[in-house]
Amino acid sequence: MAICKWAGYPDLFIRFTCNPKWPEVARFGKCRQLSAEDRLDILTRIFKIKLDQLLKDLRDNKVFGEVKAVELPDNLVDPQYYAAVTNLMIHGPSRKSSPCMQNSKCTKHFPKKFVDSTTVDDEGYPIYKRRDNGKSTKRAGSDLDNRYVVPHNRFLLLKYGAHINVEWCNQSRSIKYLFKYVNNKGHDRVTAAFSQSGNTDDSRIIDEINMYCDCRYISPCEAAWRIFNFPIHHREPSVERLSFHLEGNQNVIFSNDDRIDAVVNRPTVKESMFLKWFEANKEFPKERELTYAKFPLKFVWNQQSKKWKKRQTSAFSIGRIFFVPPGSGEQYYLRLLLNVIKGPTSYEDLRKINGHDYNTFRDACYALGLLDDDREYVDAIVEAKFNLADDDLKNLFLQKIEHFLKGYGRSFLDFPTMPMPVYNEEEVDQNNRLICDEMRYNRRALAVEH
Ligand SMILES: [Zn+2]
Repeated sequence: MAICKWAGYPDLFIRFTCNPKWPEVARFGKCRQLSAEDRLDILTRIFKIKLDQLLKDLRDNKVFGEVKAVELPDNLVDPQYYAAVTNLMIHGPSRKSSPCMQNSKCTKHFPKKFVDSTTVDDEGYPIYKRRDNGKSTKRAGSDLDNRYVVPHNRFLLLKYGAHINVEWCNQSRSIKYLFKYVNNKGHDRVTAAFSQSGNTDDSRIIDEINMYCDCRYISPCEAAWRIFNFPIHHREPSVERLSFHLEGNQNVIFSNDDRIDAVVNRPTVKESMFLKWFEANKEFPKERELTYAKFPLKFVWNQQSKKWKKRQTSAFSIGRIFFVPPGSGEQYYLRLLLNVIKGPTSYEDLRKINGHDYNTFRDACYALGLLDDDREYVDAIVEAKFNLADDDLKNLFLQKIEHFLKGYGRSFLDFPTMPMPVYNEEEVDQNNRLICDEMRYNRRALAVEH
């Protein structure tokens, strides 16, 4: 997400699949009487070469003109392209035995619908233009038309001769999907069963236990990829995680038997990444136009020497400030300030807004208008507080809200500026979260269910 913040949301999602029929592979195999699956190491290496070239093309040569196509080309006008699409970029026909099928439905939602123009659906997924123009191709005995074409890019398809799925994505929602897809998909799984075979004499001793084993499956290609030590993922530019802390609240690591004065007087105590950022702002007054998150664009943190050094090359990273939840008080407000304030040299500097010194980071945030949305909300409640004729009514509201907050592991105690509900003795049980939770069970519904 830090990269998205810096570069904007991604435009394209490209999936590049290895093609065992590549001419290089076929050529190698032909004179040695081997097929692609005999030398997966070579297939893997070729894929890596092509992948690197693809990244180079995308980054340096900026190959994209017309980004994607989702329709069958004309066989007469562009036969080479037509052949590539029909061979590599057609999904289907989905049959019962196809890997994409689940509960007799294609999980990739092929065939798609015919549509006259590209749009984005309510959930942020693109719906591509697929015209019902009568074009189709024969595959496994079925006529497949534009509804079966996987989105792709003509240039990449022809250059790499492989299944390269190019999808347009421009919505934050798609990113979450991509991350889920890339990070959480994990390895393919297989359920393997061991069974006895062969000698019939032993068949009397049929083991009562079927040994089932839930295994992770690594394909030979992936094994080769890992043996060659090729990277599994790569991010560029890199992301530098930026720690920060309230005054005097930096992390200090010490052993059980360290003497306290020795610990607090250790020079490294004052050498946190965050405090050193103040120092760097003093040292390089000309570079004070950067916020903390943007600082790694021009400076690099040296963990050894505990110093921010000016970058000597054009390389850079993107800063990501550690997350703190909104209920963490001053720490949260400090983080808000760090997103906007440039080149401070001290905590006081961070709290100084338009020449006025504020006592807390929260007040400074208000002065900057960073909490305007919240302010409205808080003011509305404060106002309502005065309008409520009956104090009991107000208290009742507060109790209700507190009740909901507790359901989420929070409390009014987390928001020091908010009033606290008052409980009298008869209501104590209402306030007891454990009892409340017990009471929440819908006994009738549970009785039916079990
Ligand atoms: Zn399918």
